[in-house]
Amino acid sequence: MEKDLEKIAKEKGIKYFLVSWVDMFGMLRSKLVPTRAIKGMQKNGAGFAGFAAYLDLTPAHPDLFGMPDPDSFIQIPWQKEIGWVACDLWMNGKPLEASPRVALKKQLARAEKMGYRMKTGVECEFHLINKEGTALADDMDTHAKPCYDQQAVMRQYPIISKIADAMLELEWNPYQNDHEDSNGQFEMNWDYDDALKTADRHVFFKYMTRAICESHGIRATFMPKPFMNLTGNGCHAHMSIWDLDGKKNLFSTDGEDPRGLGLSPLAYQFLGGIMESAVDLTAIFNPTVNSFKRINAPRTVSGSSWAPNAVTYGGNNRTHMVRVPDPGRFELRLMDGAVNPYLLQAGMLAAGLDGVENNRDPGDPLDINMYEEGHLAKDARHLPENLLDAIRLLDDNKIMRKALGDEFIDAYVKLKMADWNDFSHHLSTWERQHTLDC
Ligand SMILES: [Mg+2]
Repeated sequence: MEKDLEKIAKEKGIKYFLVSWVDMFGMLRSKLVPTRAIKGMQKNGAGFAGFAAYLDLTPAHPDLFGMPDPDSFIQIPWQKEIGWVACDLWMNGKPLEASPRVALKKQLARAEKMGYRMKTGVECEFHLINKEGTALADDMDTHAKPCYDQQAVMRQYPIISKIADAMLELEWNPYQNDHEDSNGQFEMNWDYDDALKTADRHVFFKYMTRAICESHGIRATFMPKPFMNLTGNGCHAHMSIWDLDGKKNLFSTDGEDPRGLGLSPLAYQFLGGIMESAVDLTAIFNPTVNSFKRINAPRTVSGSSWAPNAVTYGGNNRTHMVRVPDPGRFELRLMDGAVNPYLLQAGMLAAGLDGVENNRDPGDPLDINMYEEGHLAKDARHLPENLLDAIRLLDDNKIMRKALGDEFIDAYVKLKMADWNDFSHHLSTWERQHTLDC
């Protein structure tokens, strides 16, 4: 039986619900709904004008409905009178293909039919900056190699602890918080779980981090490369496929792994699928103009960009696109902070299942430092260098068209192309410096 949101509200003292959904560009949109109206919305959905969001809808389209998923309910820890619920988008009585949460559920249903359940964890890096977005929030955070800097992380304790306390209260099983590789950069980790749960938490984590920072007079940004000389914000994801009960990790192997990484044949097929489609998925995993300043980046002040530049995998080696840190799972390091939390999961699963269906082989792992010896990986495909190339690759990718549907890909490509064109109409300082005296 579906959970009754009105009943939950009465038990927990909820006065308002944030009925929320994410559009194709990852923007979180909501209506703040008094509890008296939640019963009707749980049944019929909350109405929205789709043209107002990034969904490729026009003002002539009928109402868009956000159908709350009561399983996603969160009582906001710092505003207990508010409940948050994630929605699937519906139109004309059926789920909307362009809804990122619907797209993920479609891939999850496909996996379920094959007997699989995907579990994932995400690592959302972010910078703490001033309100204007022009500088780091902490002007004492200047060390050249600031990763794990105790002094700097503790200067942000009032904010970090508030976010961590909230995750503890929500029982996400958070387990560590640290200062990351760039000045002003942090990462907070919680346990992996089912892909949809992780995606909903990822959406809420971004909202929570921003909201708590704003209440402290600063700003959190997940922008892929907010400062050219500093390490960018990645969003690495760890994944494994389990049986439908969620008890047995099918990426683990009882027997010998001839490649020595402790992965099952199924894991290698899944990995083969990810490697097959990775280049074409950058438009989804690295979805902004700015994303491509993180990929293929020059060295940062800390000495490394920590971002991949080619489609390779290795063992516990952070210079590759895919790292296998432990037996039974692997980490995809391609995505950045701008990635849509639902499309991140949908893209990985769609590519991985294609690998399983077509028995794709990722080849042997590479045990080299890709930043120093990348030239040795002669056959490795290189990631696109800008958003335009990435959009064109996605547009042409038959695997993603088949998995996510033409309606979804066409809408995404159209909106992203408009984004690229908007950027192209921008006259930059670089152009003036290099062209004024032509
Ligand atoms: Mg990190």
